[in-house]
Amino acid sequence: MIKRTFIFLLLYMHMSLFGNTVTIIGCGYVGLTLAAILSDAGHTVHCVEKDENKLNRLISQQLYIYETGLAEILFPAMERGSLAFFDSLDQVHDTSIFFVCVPTPIDSLGACDCSYLFEACAEIAQYAMKHSNPKIVCIKSTVQPGTMAQVQDLFLAMGLDSVELVYNPEFMREGSALRDIYINPIVLGGNSQEALKTIRNLYGNSHSEQVEVINTTFETAEMIKYAWNAFSAIRIAYVNELALLCRSLGADITTVIKGFAMSEQALPTTTLKPGPGIGGSCLPKDTRAFATLLEQHDFHSSLMHQAIQSNRSHIDRVVQDIFAALPDSTQNKVVTLLGLSFKANTNDIRNAPSLDIIKALIQAGVTVHAYDPQAIDAMSKVFPEVDYFDCPYRAVQDSDCIVVLTEWDEIKNLDLELIAQLCKRRVMIDTRNVFDTQLLKKYDFFYRNMGSL
Ligand code: NAD
Repeated sequence: MIKRTFIFLLLYMHMSLFGNTVTIIGCGYVGLTLAAILSDAGHTVHCVEKDENKLNRLISQQLYIYETGLAEILFPAMERGSLAFFDSLDQVHDTSIFFVCVPTPIDSLGACDCSYLFEACAEIAQYAMKHSNPKIVCIKSTVQPGTMAQVQDLFLAMGLDSVELVYNPEFMREGSALRDIYINPIVLGGNSQEALKTIRNLYGNSHSEQVEVINTTFETAEMIKYAWNAFSAIRIAYVNELALLCRSLGADITTVIKGFAMSEQALPTTTLKPGPGIGGSCLPKDTRAFATLLEQHDFHSSLMHQAIQSNRSHIDRVVQDIFAALPDSTQNKVVTLLGLSFKANTNDIRNAPSLDIIKALIQAGVTVHAYDPQAIDAMSKVFPEVDYFDCPYRAVQDSDCIVVLTEWDEIKNLDLELIAQLCKRRVMIDTRNVFDTQLLKKYDFFYRNMGSL
């Protein structure tokens, strides 16, 4: 381990002083854009391309794709001798860092087809068996969560446990690839901090100072890329629905989008947080009315309908999670709800998820304890049969299951150790991800949260 860390340190020092030699497998939009920025950053770049036609054109300095600015970087680099194209890894020497930029199309069932990726990794594995210097393999192709674990198995199955893997998804868009690649966030997934650092440093100062770097696990990095692409598709579908609706209603979509941009500044996507579903006086009624309006204009299965259904299903999911966490049956069980208002810092319970959750629990014969810093008055008028507490620690006493529904500071800052001593069973359903999972584990809670590690 110490020896390997030392070798990586040498690799890193060599790289920062002299630039490095890297090999890119797959010379499409992603591979060529990466080749441009890495050669621009001072590295020697070897590019391997399987398609003979593409390869020959690249060797004769013809860019077979149209991407502004790319030829101006790639071909001078070829002339300087810092960039070269090959048809196979056999012709490449002195490389210890590989980038895989091969296609990941969908198969006949619509699933991600990783055959090109696995084939490229098998070629690297063969190369690694012949050349003994330490290897980093960085996958840039878009893959679904779980793929990197399979890539790791592939190398391990060939006895190559010294190969370090990094997943570094690409966010650039065709048409503005060179501009995007310099300003997009750098997401790095992997187990080896040295390998993540090596890949980050390869980009050197080429990226803007403000570029954010996320170091995370394989699964989270894989998920970031998939989630971002899906989110982009949802946004495009939504704006197209809106445009058609504007056309029917005589509204102007360009100005509507401008209005959106102002809201995006005030409420940026960085503030997105999962929770038990929407509530309050505005979103539920306005989305319902908007869905009806869309229906009147022949959008029978619009995104709005799906969003309403999806938000509804989150409330049902919380109820299912609670029932699943209660042993044997719901009879003679105590469930404590922490937070009743539809969000923190308000006493508003209109359309709050807590309303449906309390109803389902009471119907199932559960004894409901509830704490909220501001919303008890309002809720006690709707459900007088609930046991309300003005102290959260008293509320959790004798509890079989604790459910966080609102992200009040008073709830976030609760003493988990004390709660663990007071409740009957250490079961926590945290629908707002307010509690640190390490602490929940430390105090031996069985917990369900909203996808937070
Ligand atoms: P592409 O089809 O343009 O290029 C991939 C190249 O890899 C092809 O030229 C192919 O011949 C070559 N190739 C396949 N297997 C090979 C092998 N074993 N050895 C050498 N060459 C091989 O693909 P792309 O658009 O660059 O996308 C690559 C990956 O990046 C995909 O997973 C894609 O989803 C993802 N991605 C693409 C974009 C984009 O805008 N195009 C953006 C972000 C991420």
